[in-house]
Amino acid sequence: MIRINDIVDKISDYNPSADLDIIDRAYIFSARVHQGQVRLSGEPYLIHPLEVAAILADLKLDEVSIVSGLLHDVIEDTWATPEQLRDMFGDDVCHIVEGVTKLSAITSSSMETRQAENLRKMILAMAKDIRVVLVKISDRLHNMRTLQFHKEHKRKDIARETLDIYAPIAGRLGIYWMKKELEDSAFMYLLPEEYNKIDMLVKNNLAKGGEYIEIVKNLIKQKLDESNIESEIVGRYKHYYSIYQKMLRQNLTFDELYDIIAFRIVVDNMHQCYMVLGLIHALWKPIPKKFKDYIGTPKPNGYQSLHSSVIGPLGKRMEIQIRTHDMDKVARSGIAAHWSYKEGKRTTDEEIRKTFKWLQDLVENQAQFRDPKEFLENVRIDLFPDEVYVFTPKGEVKSMPRGATPIDFAYMVHTELGNQCISAKVNGRVVPLRYELKTGDIVEVISAKGHTPSRDWLKFVKTVKARSRIRQWIKIQEKERSLPLGREMCEKEFEKHKLDFNVEVKSEKMKKVVEDFGYKDIDDLIADIGYGKFTPHQIAKKFIPEEPEAQESLLTKIIGRVTKKKKDVGVIVSGVDDVLIRFGKCCHPLPGDPIIGYITRGYGVAIHRSSCVHALRTDPERRIDVNWREKSGQIYPVKICIVARDRVGLLADIATNIAKNSANILNANTGDIDENNTSTMLFTIAVEDNGHLDKVVAAIKKVKLVQSVVRIS
Ligand code: MN
Repeated sequence: MIRINDIVDKISDYNPSADLDIIDRAYIFSARVHQGQVRLSGEPYLIHPLEVAAILADLKLDEVSIVSGLLHDVIEDTWATPEQLRDMFGDDVCHIVEGVTKLSAITSSSMETRQAENLRKMILAMAKDIRVVLVKISDRLHNMRTLQFHKEHKRKDIARETLDIYAPIAGRLGIYWMKKELEDSAFMYLLPEEYNKIDMLVKNNLAKGGEYIEIVKNLIKQKLDESNIESEIVGRYKHYYSIYQKMLRQNLTFDELYDIIAFRIVVDNMHQCYMVLGLIHALWKPIPKKFKDYIGTPKPNGYQSLHSSVIGPLGKRMEIQIRTHDMDKVARSGIAAHWSYKEGKRTTDEEIRKTFKWLQDLVENQAQFRDPKEFLENVRIDLFPDEVYVFTPKGEVKSMPRGATPIDFAYMVHTELGNQCISAKVNGRVVPLRYELKTGDIVEVISAKGHTPSRDWLKFVKTVKARSRIRQWIKIQEKERSLPLGREMCEKEFEKHKLDFNVEVKSEKMKKVVEDFGYKDIDDLIADIGYGKFTPHQIAKKFIPEEPEAQESLLTKIIGRVTKKKKDVGVIVSGVDDVLIRFGKCCHPLPGDPIIGYITRGYGVAIHRSSCVHALRTDPERRIDVNWREKSGQIYPVKICIVARDRVGLLADIATNIAKNSANILNANTGDIDENNTSTMLFTIAVEDNGHLDKVVAAIKKVKLVQSVVRIS
């Protein structure tokens, strides 16, 4: 059983000036609160935090990390509170222990493999401080070492989670020894048969292989000695899980596997790395495309090394890794090297600082953020700038784009859930639907059968899925409304031509027409007619069996029947010039007024002001674009209403003013005089255009006691 003194010794080794007092206090506190608890193995619970602390000491981490390791389970499993931890051990320890506790709560062993990447990212993103993750994976490592005490199914769950989540995180952080151990132990529990097969094969091979490894080591040593290069050489079998993966990937049996032996050559400086590479390649033939220079291009986690595969003695393939002692240290402890101690001092080596640039940036920024939440926000932005990770109430992780809302989430889960979403709860509280989700939020969508999406949602949803589903729904809605309308319009139009739409709709001819309009389904075409995209006439005319010229348009048909056109009318009917024009008696359009044409039945085109109620009531099918001619020399009648106090000579003054402005009076109705001595007079005058009318009106307004002059329809 490990004792606290063993851990203190380890720490003193790499950090002689460590604050051992705080470690002692953490040990005593942990022992007190865990008192009476036992592990499944029957041992006192305290062994677990001690072992975790020992692993953290193996990573050569600082006191805060070790103390956090000793205390990592106290919030979850004992009466200890975060406040107590803060008071006794400081903010950092409190935060790390809380972080580890939170991570234990979120990882779900039943989650699916495809979520693993999200969960990995989330764990990294949620940790304020990477030490949270280091404590967590150390915790997991010890749990894996003692997994045999769990029940079978529990073992598999934990092993699966280790393989999916924690081993890759260890790899990403560059702590390869941990990654390998986590993978191999998880592999053993998850696929015992395969594990044992590889174990047996490696052990059978070991006697011969062990000899072989010694031979190769000596050959390399000799060669390097000749060039006066001091080196450390390690030869070993690759770890089982990587052998297994290789077999799977390349579909090989164990006998066909060659480079399962790997040698690591550690030298003093980078220059020697490349020299050694040259010597090795001179000694044994390199396998093409197997050479990788991670010194020139380090892995994102800072790993540096030269990798090459060569054909060694007896034609066996071997992998060779060459690196410096410093690189080897990073390769062994990865990101942990950042917090580790070098000759009693925190690492300040410029090279390592550069290697961990991204982490360094985060840590340096950490000081600027008093509020842990604010810092957390920053970590997330730096690690994964565009994503947030949220949970379903069942603990499934969903990755969402930054700014996503509960509506996006609902559609991500299921289209129906999105369509029927009425409100949402985040972490148990009702939030507005436009709430922006944050990493770690537990999102619960509240839906109601029969509830439908709102067009407004399009203003704030972020995901393509939500947007397209809402649009799709709106389209279906529109179709539902416009389909019966379109059908009715078609039926009427066909009736006009003595055709039965409901018969024609099933005809071969209709199929062709639908295709010609670029549709697959007749309903879509009918709906678009209801929606106003096409007129029913455009369809009907394909079914009217008439001579081509008569078919041309309703307009030409009418023109055939009307009497001779008047010369020089002031209006151009679009597309036709031989047409009878009449002006609406209701609204008396003037040049300059916005106008529309209406194709009458047999009386040519009637021109109305666009605002005229009669014009608005006409069949849209029969409307036609018309425009005023530039200068026609025509005069047009227009009605005006004049209100004035009656006086002697009023009528004469008005008439004079109209005449002075070159307008003719066609009709005048002076009406009665009311009790207030006010007279309302209606005039019909002839003017050239609305500009001319304005002049006349202005002149009448100047007449003494005239109160108002307005044009009327
Ligand atoms: Mn634990």
